[in-house]
Amino acid sequence: MTINCRGTARRAPTEFPFDPTEVAPRLLAWYGAHGRNLPWRHTRDPYRIWLSEIMLQQTTVTAVIPYYQRFLAAFPEVTALAAAPPEQVIEQWAGLGYYSRARNLHRAAQLVVGEHGGHFPQTVEALAALPGIGRSTAGAIVSIAFDRPAPILDGNVRRVLIRLFAYASDPRGTKAEHALWRWAELLTARERPHDYAQAIMDLGATVCTPRDPDCPGCPLAALCQARRHGLERQLPAARPRKSVPLRRQVALLVEREGRYLVRPRPAEGFLGGLWEFPVADLRDHETPLSAAGRLAQELGVVGRQAAVGRLKHAYSHFTLELALVRVTGLGEERVAEGGWQWQGPGRLAETPLHGAHRKLLERFVLTGASGDSNE
Ligand code: SF4
Repeated sequence: MTINCRGTARRAPTEFPFDPTEVAPRLLAWYGAHGRNLPWRHTRDPYRIWLSEIMLQQTTVTAVIPYYQRFLAAFPEVTALAAAPPEQVIEQWAGLGYYSRARNLHRAAQLVVGEHGGHFPQTVEALAALPGIGRSTAGAIVSIAFDRPAPILDGNVRRVLIRLFAYASDPRGTKAEHALWRWAELLTARERPHDYAQAIMDLGATVCTPRDPDCPGCPLAALCQARRHGLERQLPAARPRKSVPLRRQVALLVEREGRYLVRPRPAEGFLGGLWEFPVADLRDHETPLSAAGRLAQELGVVGRQAAVGRLKHAYSHFTLELALVRVTGLGEERVAEGGWQWQGPGRLAETPLHGAHRKLLERFVLTGASGDSNE
C-alpha cells in the first residue's frame, strides 16, 4: 500500500474494479452542492452529534428532528443528561422506541462526566467502550465532531459500499462485515473527514436509496459496479424471510370516573420503566374475553366487560396481537398491590406508555373508537 498526494491509501489497481482514490473527491464535490441541512450539522459538539447518531439508528431524519430538539431543550449539556433521573430520560425518549438506547445514552453520559471529566473521548476505541456506542457510531463522532479520519458503516454507508463493489453474497455474515469495514476504511478521506462522513451518509440517504437509487444523479456512477452490471436494484441481496412468532395478549381498559388504571413496568428488562395498562398473555385456546376475566380477577377489578378492538404491533423478534377489553361499573373495591395509578386521558397523553399501549390509547381511548386495526 502507498499513500498518494491526497493522503489517501492507494492499493494495487488490480485489487479493485475501480480506482478507490477517486471516491472521496467525487463525494466531497457532490456534498458541497447537495449535502442536507440538518439541525446537528450546525455544530461540532460531540454531545449533539452523538445524540443525533443514536436517535437516527433505525429512525428517519424527519421523525428524529422534533425529538432531538426536545431532548436538547431538556438536557442541553451532557452534564444535565448525566444528572437527570432515569424516568425523565425515558419520558423525553418516549415514542422513539428501542428504549435500551435511552438507558445506554444515560449511562454513557454518566461515564463521560464521571470518568472523562465531562469531555467526550476522541478515539474510536475509547468511545466504543461507552454503552450503546458501536464502532460505526464512534467513527461518526470522531469524524464529524473531531474531524479525524475514522471509517463508518451505518445502514446507508453499507448499502452504498455493497453496490459500489457489487457485493452479491449475503451481506450480513462475518465475511461481509470484514470486507465492508475494509472498504470503508480504504475509502475514508484523510482530508476533510468531517465532510466525507456526512457526504457518504447523505449519498445513501438521498441518492443510493434502498428501493429506487438515482444512479444518473450519483457522483459515483462512473465507478459503481452494481450500476455497471445492472444490479443496483438487486443489491444488497435480500435477507431470507424468517417467520416471526405471534404473541397474543389482552389489555384491560379499567375505567372508574373517567380515569384508567396504568402502572410503570420494572426498570430493568424489556420496555423497562415504560408504562402500560393491565395486560396478560393469552393461554392456549383462551379468548381475549376469558383472559380478561382472569386478569380482572387477579387485579380485583371485576366489573362489566366489553371487547373494544384489536391491533397488531411489530417488535424485532415477535409480532404482538393485542386485544383491548373495557371494564366498567366498578365499585370501591381495592386494586391489587403493584404501583397502579388512576389517570385521566389528559395525564395519560403525557405518560410514557410503551409503543403498543400508546397505540391503544390513541386509537381507542382518546378517539373513543372501537374495532380492529391492522397497523
Ligand atoms: S450508481 Fe447507483 S447504485 Fe451505484 S452508488 Fe450510485 S446510486 Fe448507488
